[in-house]
Amino acid sequence: MNKQAFINSLEFARNMSTNDPLSGFRNRFHFPKHEGKPVLYFCGNSLGLQPDSAQSFIIEELEDWRKFGVEGHMHARHPWFPYHEFLRDSTARLINAKPEEVVVMNSLTANIHFLMVSFYRPTSSRYKIIFENNLFPSDRYALASQANFHANKGNQKLFDENDALIELMPRDGELYLRTEDILETIDKHKDSLALVMLGGVNYFTGQVFDFAEITKATHNAGAICGFDLAHATGNVELKLHEWDVDFAAWCSYKYLNAGPGAVGGAFVHERHAKNNALPRFAGWWGNDPETRFTMPEKFIPRAGADGWQLSNAPVFSMAALRASMEIFDEAGMDKLIEKSRSLTSYLEFIVGEVNKQTEGSNKISIITPSHARGCQLSLIVENSGKQIHEYLIENGVIADWRHPNVIRVAPVPLYNNYEDVFEFGQLLYEGISKVSGTATTTR
Ligand SMILES: *Cc1c(COP(=O)(O)O)cnc(C)c1O
Repeated sequence: MNKQAFINSLEFARNMSTNDPLSGFRNRFHFPKHEGKPVLYFCGNSLGLQPDSAQSFIIEELEDWRKFGVEGHMHARHPWFPYHEFLRDSTARLINAKPEEVVVMNSLTANIHFLMVSFYRPTSSRYKIIFENNLFPSDRYALASQANFHANKGNQKLFDENDALIELMPRDGELYLRTEDILETIDKHKDSLALVMLGGVNYFTGQVFDFAEITKATHNAGAICGFDLAHATGNVELKLHEWDVDFAAWCSYKYLNAGPGAVGGAFVHERHAKNNALPRFAGWWGNDPETRFTMPEKFIPRAGADGWQLSNAPVFSMAALRASMEIFDEAGMDKLIEKSRSLTSYLEFIVGEVNKQTEGSNKISIITPSHARGCQLSLIVENSGKQIHEYLIENGVIADWRHPNVIRVAPVPLYNNYEDVFEFGQLLYEGISKVSGTATTTR
């Protein structure tokens, strides 16, 4: 067997798993079943799988609620009053922030809005927002509605909202953005720029942006730089403090495996987090906890990202997140990223093999840039992409379809393995063969 054929074999995949120090984590997650067999799950970028431990973490809170009623705020095994504190250190580790720069609260789109209250404060001359093409719809609505909200004050027009939204576009014939073009756009709008707000990893193409360069250029232009880390947290290396990013928000149900609708997270750089004078929408949980229950009339924000909190902690959702963060702490982000690089490279190789063996009928192109990616690869299948995706679904693969022609595949290093990727390649080959009516099946 030649080397190429060996790598594209179950034996190779098994060897890789045997030598994978993280392989044991897979057994700590629940895989949905398809016809009695665990599915090939590649949708951790959409909803992470349930950690085995999530149930006992939630049950602990149900029991303590039963046992203590309201006194659980102080007397539960993990008291609810400071519950978000139990997530602080592991969250800070995940994104390389200082503990006081992070807080777990609300949900993602809500956090984007609340942070924009402080960090998007346009004037008649500086009001533009730069964002990426293929922006997640919720982010687009958030940015557009913020621009609209500020554009008109009473009868006065502060700025033209149609002029406020600057969408970064790839060059003709290219599929993702070049950093040099992003930097150039920032420079071009430097006199009127208020905010650069990008996804850390674009949800559609899987492109990872150059956080450090973009943040630096944004600051040079006198503007604020924020990131939506929905597809970045728990997936790629982040150094938010060092990169000097102003603010960021993310959700915890994708790579962080905290379950549907789980509580989100936020980062505020300490430069701002210490600034009591920054305007914000306030709630009692952002107030200094020393005086919270004396119910002072005047809001005194707590120093740190905590000062952006509004409401008391959603304990059940946070309990599930605690279960998952414990696993992240055990595995370590560095090791996860190392495995992720290897596993995704294997997927890239396998896709290349499928292309060779199907001899270009329904050729698959990978639109995710190989030099800037996390675990996700976004595949465009020429012709019949939808039918091929359906074939995969019928055969126990969970990977998602994005209109008009993209299949997103995310092998997650915590619970996916090399055999998953190998099997995926087999089914992809079969699907393409069947749809194009050429080659025979491999099994
Ligand atoms: C998943 C995702 C969202 C979802 O927002 P919610 O407020 O959590 O419903 C928003 N933006 C991006 C970029 C996402 O990937």
